[in-house]
Amino acid sequence: MNPGFLFIAGCERSGTTAMERLLNGDDRIIVTHERFKFIRREVTPAHFALDRFFNPIPEETNDLNPEVYEQLRQRWDSGPIAYLGDKVPLYYQVMPHLAEAFPGCRIIYILRDLNPVASSYNVRASNPDDANWPEHRDYRDAVANWNESLKRLWNFVERFGTEHLFVVKYERFFAGDAACLEALYRFLELPLTAEVRRRFRAATADWPERSGRALQLSDGMKDYLAKKKNGTLEAAALSLAEQCVAPQAAETVRNCGICGGSEFEEGPGGRHSATGLPARCAHCGSLERDRVVYAAWGAIPEARRRAMSVLSLNRHPGLREDQFANFQVLPLDPGDQAAIQQILAELPANSFDAIGCNYLLQRIENDRAAVQAMLRALKPGGFIQVTVPNPVKVLATKELAAKPGQPGSRYRVYGADFGERFDDVYTVCALEHDPVTGTPEMVYFLTESDETRKMLGGL
Ligand SMILES: [Zn+2]
Repeated sequence: MNPGFLFIAGCERSGTTAMERLLNGDDRIIVTHERFKFIRREVTPAHFALDRFFNPIPEETNDLNPEVYEQLRQRWDSGPIAYLGDKVPLYYQVMPHLAEAFPGCRIIYILRDLNPVASSYNVRASNPDDANWPEHRDYRDAVANWNESLKRLWNFVERFGTEHLFVVKYERFFAGDAACLEALYRFLELPLTAEVRRRFRAATADWPERSGRALQLSDGMKDYLAKKKNGTLEAAALSLAEQCVAPQAAETVRNCGICGGSEFEEGPGGRHSATGLPARCAHCGSLERDRVVYAAWGAIPEARRRAMSVLSLNRHPGLREDQFANFQVLPLDPGDQAAIQQILAELPANSFDAIGCNYLLQRIENDRAAVQAMLRALKPGGFIQVTVPNPVKVLATKELAAKPGQPGSRYRVYGADFGERFDDVYTVCALEHDPVTGTPEMVYFLTESDETRKMLGGL
């Protein structure tokens, strides 16, 4: 039987080497260390022909250690090998090429939290003896690369789906969660042996100590990273990682989160949810996106939420008077852009704990001015809660020629760069699943307060 092909990718400093070592501990798998790093864009199955694969050359790799390759060659000679693989972090740049050149190959993508990745960049950048890591590759480079790797991941998923992709949440896997290991071996279609389990426990035993180490990041750097990171794509990738470990079973209809109703019908225009289930609650009329907004507000600690003074820019089933101390609805008419800007500009300053703005921003011509006006109307520590139509459909926001006055006319389609759109504000992205249909939706919170960001980020 011919072995399959396996590639390990992820932003640099994300633990791809740790994964390589773990899999190499399984004598059914051979994974090389950056064997085809320099020719990753052109690598083909011909490069894996044995005489070539086990004899690295400097044009293809900077890791030529002959002893290592001799050991791997012996492993090949001594037993059936299920996978030949290579680990190069930057394979994330060429995943579509890999999928096309190696039909059916498996790709493991590692997602690690941004702060430890950025800290690791800083450590290497500040080490004068580290010849392979120039000084300028610090935390700022880290967030740019981290965002880029997530964009490439999402691009790949849009084109090739997830059948041959396994997204590993580093912090969960290397904390020793056996469910992750079991899922990885299901993905590889290999029986999980007692020996592999033992090696996994040994490789993850020092997690409490490792995860407790201080990061090489100042508060100012952490702030920079929090503002620059693409939370939309992070939430989407986390959702993929969760799906890899525990695929969501076909949903049984549960109760509406808003009214408790248990009967559901087709949505507007006979529409079903993305998961194929009827979308609209027959009792309160809510749709997936409404229930997701309601759930996001429901996650705020009750004592805090019940003391809040909240303004909603439009009537929305996800925001209800009985959730808050004080609740007002401002029916903005997207047909009259001048009136919108005037109403927002005249909002009393320093007046609300939070403002809800759902499925509306794409219909406001000057969305940045609208957000600035909302921020002025917030009390210190306040936040704006926003939803927009599916922001992971496209990577970059597209401006449109809107036809004001026409119902539903939009000025833009927001993309996964939504969180980078508004300056000097933290954008927290929460991925929520509608309890009825299982449909995932992004809910954003915009705030100028670091403390509020942390509270909302921990929901
Ligand atoms: Zn309902």
